[in-house]
Amino acid sequence: MMDDTHQMACKHAILSIAGSDPSGGAGIQADLKTFSKIGVYGAAAITCLTAQNTTGVKALHPVPADFVQKQVKLVLDDLPVSHIKTGMIGTSGVARSLAEIFSHFPGEIICDPVLIASDGRPLLEENGLQDFLHCIVSHSTVLTPNIPELITLSNLPVENSDDIEGAVESLFARFAKLRLVLVTGGHIEHKSTSITDYLFIRNADMYSIQHQRHSTPNTHGTGCTFASAFTAFHILSGDDKVAFQRAVGFMDTMLNLSSEITIGKGCGPLPHHLYD
Ligand code: PLP
Repeated sequence: MMDDTHQMACKHAILSIAGSDPSGGAGIQADLKTFSKIGVYGAAAITCLTAQNTTGVKALHPVPADFVQKQVKLVLDDLPVSHIKTGMIGTSGVARSLAEIFSHFPGEIICDPVLIASDGRPLLEENGLQDFLHCIVSHSTVLTPNIPELITLSNLPVENSDDIEGAVESLFARFAKLRLVLVTGGHIEHKSTSITDYLFIRNADMYSIQHQRHSTPNTHGTGCTFASAFTAFHILSGDDKVAFQRAVGFMDTMLNLSSEITIGKGCGPLPHHLYD
């Protein structure tokens, strides 16, 4: 007999539209591992092949925009996709090829605004930001920036929690479909032993969770994993706040594990396989 959670997990699927990381730490690999661990069916359309390992991104090979569009259309025509999660979009052409599909999609679109890899390599082509904002962010219902991404998207300085709120309000004012902005606060107060993550809900009070900062270099794929965890928990709970709380808890466990386990020679991935 299936319980309610299993029934919910069978009726809904997530489509991740993101880049491929062959080392398995970020991109669609991290997204699919996260969906599976949480118990939600995940599909994946690849926007860009990357050649990378834990020491950095060495090369990019974007998938032609019409082929990305074809992957997405075929999955949407077939599977019960209630949530789309986007990661690395890569090029203006890919962003433009998704805009029309997104404008008709009735479910949630969770946008993880992947702009730069942690080694500093740009993951969105030069001059691609306007198309990314116009074609992807403007159709999204949920945005999950970290602080550097929030600065780039809002074009405002962000140094403290008041700045975060101002930057998020500017995004709500600019993008009418945006319902939620989840900001991970790890990039401010570097020396603090705690981190605050924020859930901003349009026209409602901000909600935040403070948690311990884990001392680990193994953070590759944390942005992808957080946005994916929120998406999967949103399907299971149907509740914004619960999904946020559970995603923050999931990350806390993963980062705790990653502080004990190093995979690869560089900035290691999260050990999704060890979560239970
Ligand atoms: N997506 C791909 C394909 C990547 O290669 C990377 C980083 O290298 C990211 C997303 C972003 O990873 P993170 O979750 O660490 O921000």
